[in-house]
Amino acid sequence: MIARVSLEIALRKEFDYSIPAELAGQVDVGSRVQVPFGARKILGVVTAVAEESGHAKLKAILKVIGAQTLVTAKVLKLARWIGEYYCCAPETALKSVLPEAVRKEDAGWRERLFVRVLPVSGEFPKLPKRQQEVWNIVEERRELPLAELLELTKTTAATVRKLEDRSLVQITAEISERDPYAKETILATQPLVVNPAQAAALEKITAAMNRGEDGGWRMEDGKRAPSSILHPPSSTFLLHGVTGSGKTEVYLQAIAHALEQGKGAIVLVPEISLTPQTVERFKARFSSGKLQTLVAVLHSHLSAGERHDEWHKIRQGRARIVIGARSAIFAPVEPLGLIIVDEEHEHTYKQEEAPRYHARDVAVMRGHMENAVVVLGSATPALESFYNCQKGKFTLLELPERVDDQKMPHVRVVDMRQAKRDGKGTPIFSPQLKEAITQRLEKHEQTILFLNRRGYSSSLVCEKCGHICECPNCSLALTYHRPEQLLRCHICNYSEQVPRICPNEKCKNPGIRYSGLGTQKVEDVLQKLFPRARIKRMDADVMKRKEDYRRVLDSFKHGEIDILIGTQMIAKGLHFPNVTLVGIIYADMALHQPDFRAGERTFQLLTQVSGRAGRGDIEGEVFVQAFTPFHPAIQFARRHDFNGFFEQELEFRKQLHYPPFSRVALLTLKGRNEDKVKFSAEHLKRELEKLKTELKDLTISGPAAAPLARAENLYRFQIMLKTRTMSALSRELAKMVQTLALPDDVTLAVDIDPVNLA
Ligand code: ADP
Ligand code: ZN
Repeated sequence: MIARVSLEIALRKEFDYSIPAELAGQVDVGSRVQVPFGARKILGVVTAVAEESGHAKLKAILKVIGAQTLVTAKVLKLARWIGEYYCCAPETALKSVLPEAVRKEDAGWRERLFVRVLPVSGEFPKLPKRQQEVWNIVEERRELPLAELLELTKTTAATVRKLEDRSLVQITAEISERDPYAKETILATQPLVVNPAQAAALEKITAAMNRGEDGGWRMEDGKRAPSSILHPPSSTFLLHGVTGSGKTEVYLQAIAHALEQGKGAIVLVPEISLTPQTVERFKARFSSGKLQTLVAVLHSHLSAGERHDEWHKIRQGRARIVIGARSAIFAPVEPLGLIIVDEEHEHTYKQEEAPRYHARDVAVMRGHMENAVVVLGSATPALESFYNCQKGKFTLLELPERVDDQKMPHVRVVDMRQAKRDGKGTPIFSPQLKEAITQRLEKHEQTILFLNRRGYSSSLVCEKCGHICECPNCSLALTYHRPEQLLRCHICNYSEQVPRICPNEKCKNPGIRYSGLGTQKVEDVLQKLFPRARIKRMDADVMKRKEDYRRVLDSFKHGEIDILIGTQMIAKGLHFPNVTLVGIIYADMALHQPDFRAGERTFQLLTQVSGRAGRGDIEGEVFVQAFTPFHPAIQFARRHDFNGFFEQELEFRKQLHYPPFSRVALLTLKGRNEDKVKFSAEHLKRELEKLKTELKDLTISGPAAAPLARAENLYRFQIMLKTRTMSALSRELAKMVQTLALPDDVTLAVDIDPVNLA
């Protein structure tokens, strides 16, 4: 027998290897194997097993990794589709379906040796340099596989054994399963009695789940309807429910139904809302009773060891429910009954490096391939998803009201042009918002303030010559960070000292001023206005570790904080009954970006942030400060009118031929030499023109400098393609990319269905 193997090095090709007698029976489609390649040993995945090969003289597989095939046949098929549709090398797609910790594992976990740090009793001994270095790493990681430690420190097991002799570390061979949530005590919950809207949604979802194994639509008498005469109702649902309408309860009961059918479920949530709060709700429901199962969690904050163990719990079938961020869509749940994508409109579902897949769209495809029902949930669905309902591709389910008749918060838009004070410019807080905060402080209710920009001031400008301090590597103004007294780039993290005089050689004017604002400044000004208020800020600058996030949320929950200021980190998922006021400091900030989704993004953000107010018994109030208060995105958000926004936004997209009326592919060329990049882009454009003979509706715009014209010292040029049939375009692009001759120092990134146009 021979095996066809896709290697981890990107060659866009598969290679045949013979299966040696001692490995017979262990190699199957999806096995991870180590094979010789030239002088090297390389890892790969078996994509097919056959009787014979067209090649003579095959080399043999060296070893098989893991006791089970790591990539299931179904996930393998999904990876193939990703490679084709998203126009990337099949190896790249395959690589993304296994977590690094699982992929790199050099042996089955049963035989793994772990090194764990032990508490030091008494004085810490003086160690030889080598041992000290090794100990430092173990200390930092707390625990890690011995093999990994040896690799990292380039040392031998003997050195580690010496540390063991000194009782500084422990080496153990038993499998120790790490549970990232081991410290929690979880109280079991029972299903709630659903309200009529929830019941109606659940009924449709479970009916779809009950449809025949073959996925076919059955007639009343149980016979399968011929697909030619009956278009089956879609098994993809869009659950449109305002925040607090009880979507999560619908998910939980739909999952219960999958478990009853002997199937598992995948729940995707944006990384940012993977809070212990969210995970607990799922664990609690299935922690006891006849549907009891482990719930595996997959996200980027886990240690490699934790991720390895969570993944294997799924593969072994012990965890039938997976909750995780984007890449959890590849979890080896089998059989799979249900996929839930919460907050389906979130842009973090799109991966910004190859393979540039969108987890929501992959979920829909995986559901289709495995006959699993897919439920996309959101209070502010993506325009594309809502449009798919109108077209009959998805089925729309609605939860129009909050549970317990909680009212939607009252939203007031404040016209900041009128807040301008003579000679003093615009204040950060309008008198209305200031007054509202004062009231909350008096009543001991809590406030959330939102501004989607960290730092103190967004730029440093010379008053005389207009010089703006820009990043030397990126075409972007530097942000002033006051605590460190630095100007910092939010793209590449470059930083420099704040200049005292204008850096422009011809000017050197000492009068430079800060303009624009960030969360640090909001905090500063707020503390001056309300010296007695307990204020905390939550953004990437202060939340460096995962415990920080949790600690602040806990103390907010316990009423130890009056006002929480934050970036989008606080925009979603959080649920605090005592928050009765939400202030959006600068609502138009995202409106004027050169992106056709700017309006949609603003609408979504305002709606999501507003949803944080009034989740308890007291009605919530929201103040939206804006310089363009009559912009439709702001006005529709004020009225909680999704349908109104959808109608008008759809018209705009139609006129300009943007998604959902077309599909977009964005080609970005990058390089250090501006002329070369530009020249390559023009060359690419000429090649693309040739595709028009095949693809009649293809339109090509550009090349043009990208909105972010330079990042990390690379110049960026873009070409935008639009078509109605993306699969055909992807196919043609894949062929073209392979033969395209680009200079060595110019790279091309192909982004299908991009969400970030910068
Ligand atoms: P969403 O996910 O739509 O934001 P949640 O599922 O978080 O809404 O529900 C909001 C609150 O209402 C939660 O505290 C939840 O426990 C509660 N809830 C949901 N459904 C019901 C129900 N049928 N009866 C009583 N309470 C419910
Ligand atoms: Zn930069």
